[in-house]
Formats: sequence, structure tokens, C-alpha cells
Amino acid sequence: MTKIGLIRCEKNETRCPLTGCLTSLHNAAQGFADLAQPELIGVFTCHCPGDHIADMAKILKSKGAEVISWCTCAFARREGGAWVLGGGFCDHLDELAQRVARETGLPCILGTAHLPQGYVPQTFDAPQDHADG
Ligand code: SF4
Repeated sequence: MTKIGLIRCEKNETRCPLTGCLTSLHNAAQGFADLAQPELIGVFTCHCPGDHIADMAKILKSKGAEVISWCTCAFARREGGAWVLGGGFCDHLDELAQRVARETGLPCILGTAHLPQGYVPQTFDAPQDHADG
């Protein structure tokens, strides 16, 4: 079992109730396909510019999260009926994910549902010397 903490962007929190994310997680598909028996342990909304994201991720870790997953719409957009890379809700997602990986020691995986064609979920791993593990 892999316990997942999910982070989404505030710019989408009143438009999408995470339906695709939760379906993919339930089915261990898309961004969760490489994780053993993914189980959701909590969700946080990241508020721009993300100053509190590491604190929120630490709370997810305290609730048991082993992986932090980031919604696809943070870095991809829907265009012509398909999802394509770029133009997502967050313009500095990599920096946020790197910060969370560094400060929590948890891997951060970018992508949940409806992955753009050919996209392999990008993972930011914790630094080797992370003391908190
Ligand atoms: S990735 Fe898709 S399903 Fe998940 S919050 Fe964004 S738009 Fe909704």
C-alpha cells in the first residue's frame, strides 16, 4: 500500500472536485500506475505563491503520506479535447515540488489523471542527506 497526499492548485478548487484524480488513484492508473495499492490519506489546496506548501506537505506526512502527488492541471492544459503539457495553473510547480521533497523527505510526483500523451510522471526525490527521512 502506498499512502498518497494530494496537492491541488487553488485556481481549480472551485471548478473541479478532483474527480479524475480520485478515479485514477482508485484504479491505480495514470499518475498512480507505478505505485502499489495507492490509498489517499488527505488533500490540501496550495495557495499562490505557495509559501505554506512545505508546511502542508509536512502535515500530510504526519498523517502517513509516503508520496506527495500533484494534480495534472497544475502543469498541463486542456486543448482541442486533449490534455497537453504547459499552460497549467502553476508557473513554478517544479520549484514547489523540489522544496517539498527537500523539506519533507518524500518523493513528489507530478501528475494524477489524464496525463498528456507521452508524458511520464516527473518525480522529485528527496535529497540523499535528508535527515528526517
Ligand atoms: S488533474 Fe484533472 S481531475 Fe484532477 S483536479 Fe485537475 S482538472 Fe480536476
